[in-house]
Amino acid sequence: MTVHFPFQNSYSALPDSFFARVAPTPVAAPRLIKLNRPLAVQLGLDPDVLETPEGAEILAGKTVPAGADPIAMAYAGHQFGQFVPQLGDGRAVLLGEVIDKDGIRRDIQLKGSGPTPFSRRGDGRAALGPVLREYVVSEAMFALGIPTTRSLAAVVTGEHVIRETALPGAVLTRVASSHIRVGTFQFFAVRRDTDAIRRLADHVIARHYPELLGSERPYHALLAGVVARQAELVARWLLVGFIHGVMNTDNSSISGETIDYGPCAFMDAYNPSQVFSSIDEMGRYAYANQPRIALWNLTRLAECLLPLFGEEQEKAVEQAQEILGAFSDTFSNAYQAGLRKKIGLFTERDGDDALIQDLLDAMAKNQADFTLTFRKLGDAAGDPAADDARAQFMDPAAFDEWARRWHERTTLEPQSAAERQAAMHAVNPMFIPRNHRIEAVIQAAVHDDDYAPFEELVKVLAKPFEAQPDYAAYADPPLPDQRVLQTFCGT
Ligand code: AMP
Ligand code: MG
Repeated sequence: MTVHFPFQNSYSALPDSFFARVAPTPVAAPRLIKLNRPLAVQLGLDPDVLETPEGAEILAGKTVPAGADPIAMAYAGHQFGQFVPQLGDGRAVLLGEVIDKDGIRRDIQLKGSGPTPFSRRGDGRAALGPVLREYVVSEAMFALGIPTTRSLAAVVTGEHVIRETALPGAVLTRVASSHIRVGTFQFFAVRRDTDAIRRLADHVIARHYPELLGSERPYHALLAGVVARQAELVARWLLVGFIHGVMNTDNSSISGETIDYGPCAFMDAYNPSQVFSSIDEMGRYAYANQPRIALWNLTRLAECLLPLFGEEQEKAVEQAQEILGAFSDTFSNAYQAGLRKKIGLFTERDGDDALIQDLLDAMAKNQADFTLTFRKLGDAAGDPAADDARAQFMDPAAFDEWARRWHERTTLEPQSAAERQAAMHAVNPMFIPRNHRIEAVIQAAVHDDDYAPFEELVKVLAKPFEAQPDYAAYADPPLPDQRVLQTFCGT
């Protein structure tokens, strides 16, 4: 049996300035620790063959499969607001692209596969902990229905990487509809390479926004398209309590997928100013700041596209501003509509936004668990005697007062209690990747070579909206001594 990847590469056919050709660096003793079999099938790959030693060698970067054209992509980026003219894939190589079962072109990338010309002072490697974190969280996001890169496999390399201590090295096989970032445009903009910006924009339109092909002003439409997708994406994040943690422009995908899972986290208790990342000292990427930051990143993208907007600078700027101006409404509409669904409303009425805001305010004041409050509110919609939602509030009376208004509001709609509960349970997950669970998974794998907790967490999170009574404890918030206060990018 040989491993066959049906590669159809397009990015590596772009001009040489877009990437550096570089093969992954072979590793000592690769061992497959996880293969995402359904995703393999979706990509037209044979999961049985990928699970052979030969498959593990490919997924570890030890052997390059036939048809691959390995490259490290060039990009720049604003990191915490500071512009860096050259970043690029410093520890990843794009093996190539395949067309999946739905006809969608998808990148297959090895992350942690060794140094590239973009590595700067880094070793090009990844530690096992961050690889498992990205695997768990990206697949959880997928199961939640949120646009995201995915994880095809994780392998340990049999080598150590040196961070604060020596840690097991690992490689993640990441699948994305592309790895093109806002920072990819910035790479060419800072070099004043307008031809390259146009080439990249054309590639992106054909690949991610084909509906814009032949539109009268395709580059304006492209900016509008990215603005809309990012606005909707960030709304989806807020609706599940997700904090990306490093929304630098190089971690901001043009296709509108969540990308580059570093010190990301889901919040337990609702707190709009929540920050987990150890490096986010100013709270730039706090939970509630994410829409503002997404717009900031999109403004950087708009600046890159200005040369394609026409000769007249002033007019181009005006047009870009108008397009960026749509972000706010697109975001608010998606966010408010999502919140109405979360509290089980089928219609929209005056006063709904205030009703929702009052709940959020009470949750923040009472340290209510974000996920469980909404999930248990669904139970209360089905059975007014169910009081697990009120139990999330330090002062349950604060919930009672709000719940009276909520019940009154729901009586204005004809749906039955059972219908409302079903609709709420379909949007309010029972299970999210809680930080203390991820931490436990990483500890067991790194210190005891025990992957059973990882397997179980991945399995539970694949069905986040189903009750799964055998795994009920996975829905629980951390006990005080289990609370994770900080997350680390681990690079
Ligand atoms: P990230 O924090 O993963 O978004 O990465 C930011 C930049 O640093 C990217 O250009 C990465 O390729 C690079 N980078 C991160 N970790 C490493 C590493 N261990 N070796 C080389 N480059 C790295
Ligand atoms: Mg990154």
